[in-house]
Amino acid sequence: MCRAVGSGTTAESASDTGDDGVKPPPFAYHAPRTEEEALATLGALGEDGKVLAGGQSLIPLLNMRLAAPPALVDLARLETLDRIAVTDTHVRVEARVTHERLRRDERVAAAVPLLRQALDWVAHPVIRNRGTSVGSIAHADPAAELPAVLALLGGWMQLRSVEGERTVEAGDYLLGPLESDTRPGELVVAATFPRPGVRTGTAFEELARRHGDYAMAGVGVRVTLDADHHVGDASAAFIGVGGTAIQVELTEVLRGQPYDALDKAEAIGLARASIDPTADIHATAGYRRHLAGVLLGRALETAVRHAAGQAPPDSGSAPEGPGPTESAAPGSAAPGSAATESAPTGHASGGYREETA
Ligand SMILES: Cc1cc2nc3c(=O)[nH]c(=O)nc-3n(C[C@H](O)[C@H](O)[C@H](O)COP(=O)(O)OP(=O)(O)OC[C@H]3O[C@@H](n4cnc5c(N)ncnc54)[C@H](O)[C@@H]3O)c2cc1C
Repeated sequence: MCRAVGSGTTAESASDTGDDGVKPPPFAYHAPRTEEEALATLGALGEDGKVLAGGQSLIPLLNMRLAAPPALVDLARLETLDRIAVTDTHVRVEARVTHERLRRDERVAAAVPLLRQALDWVAHPVIRNRGTSVGSIAHADPAAELPAVLALLGGWMQLRSVEGERTVEAGDYLLGPLESDTRPGELVVAATFPRPGVRTGTAFEELARRHGDYAMAGVGVRVTLDADHHVGDASAAFIGVGGTAIQVELTEVLRGQPYDALDKAEAIGLARASIDPTADIHATAGYRRHLAGVLLGRALETAVRHAAGQAPPDSGSAPEGPGPTESAAPGSAAPGSAATESAPTGHASGGYREETA
């Protein structure tokens, strides 16, 4: 296990002069071109090596000198690990896929609408164009959207090292604030998000002082209706109100309720009792607890309408539409693979009442 923020002793250094006026502390820089080379480099570096993906979290930490990893292994020049695969059962996202590319992929939005519902809230276009979705989960920020999506859908991370490969489910991978089960020498190669089943609806709601900032509180919701459009099962994953994404099972308090006359009070009460918010300059703990309940109520209403086919899956309240398109990375799709390049525009329409074969 290692913390997402690395530190250690000095290795081969890009700058031997120490504090030479630049923002980050000195580090050795490695830019492998193949996955094998990346794994060999990470294996040799062990505790001293840190993966650099989009750099949208790690570079600010370096610049503020809150992290001082002796060596960075940059994924930018890899010729692989940038595929999105959409299958009958899941969406698999490789390590170099950016937030924006994932958000714009219509196949992804149709297969797992919660991904676009959540990504609409993530940061600003310029950050989404560089930041990777796998990197966001590896970073394990408790206010980040994608760890909650992975947890809510029962997804998993695929990690490789020179010693082999392992798969870790979301619940075991996300350990705490900025702490994930990525071991020294390991590279997360992909995150996999299972497709929701039939009559399942999802939604993501959050509130930040400015859109694109980390949320004061947020919640993703997944609801499955039975054939009579009564709630069969329901679950929520909260962000910004605990040390990691906090999942709350709501089935016991919502089961059997008609989708168009939900009594949400008990679910909201259960959620408020289950989360563990803290105070900061943006909000008190009490305000966050209250807000989380309000957001849950909204998300439940949207999710059940999606599940019943009454609303398209992109009809949540995220205020931002699609942003600028990211330029495609070279060599980004393997010939004959299940993955295709995504350069779509606009949002998906239509519910997802029946799963396609
Ligand atoms: C102003 C601002 C606002 C933001 N707002 C939001 C927001 O609202 N919601 C949100 O979710 N995020 C937000 N972010 C963060 C953004 O989403 C980042 O892109 C993301 O957290 C990290 O992805 P990255 O590819 O940039 O990773 P990096 O910054 O490169 O790495 C982050 C950490 O993950 C590790 N890591 C990355 N990839 C791998 C891998 N493949 N294998 C092993 N370890 C890996 C790195 O070693 C590092 O410890 C914001 C960032 C900024 C600067």
